[in-house]
Amino acid sequence: MDRIDISNERIGQIARSEVFAKGLTYAKESRVFNVTVRRGHLMGEVEGLGREPYQVHVTLAPHHDAWVPETVACSCSAPGVWCAHVVAVVVIARDFPDQVLQRQPLTSLIRLLSLEDAQDVLIRLAAIPSVREQIERILR
Ligand SMILES: [Zn+2]
Repeated sequence: MDRIDISNERIGQIARSEVFAKGLTYAKESRVFNVTVRRGHLMGEVEGLGREPYQVHVTLAPHHDAWVPETVACSCSAPGVWCAHVVAVVVIARDFPDQVLQRQPLTSLIRLLSLEDAQDVLIRLAAIPSVREQIERILR
């Protein structure tokens, strides 16, 4: 994986200090799992205080020979908030790149689908009401 470049100092400027400290604790306590990178997208899950793990999604922008976190989102709060879960996933991806799963870009995977498999995927997605509306709009 290409390296993720963001210093603890920079994270400390974006996230509040107690949030930053909590994120580091989550990272140290191995509460971060399923960390994956797919061309400019970093994803991971964090066991927090809730029953379900929190879902983290970070978009990465290329910068020289590295990736820099650009936009962040976590299922615990509003998009753009650097919560402790975002901090934990970014720190794990930065410090332990060998723990990060590499995924092919989604568009390449889609291009490899057979017509039948592509139709199955669309039919499954159409069960999600908001996605169904979009599909109907596109096919109209
Ligand atoms: Zn969160």
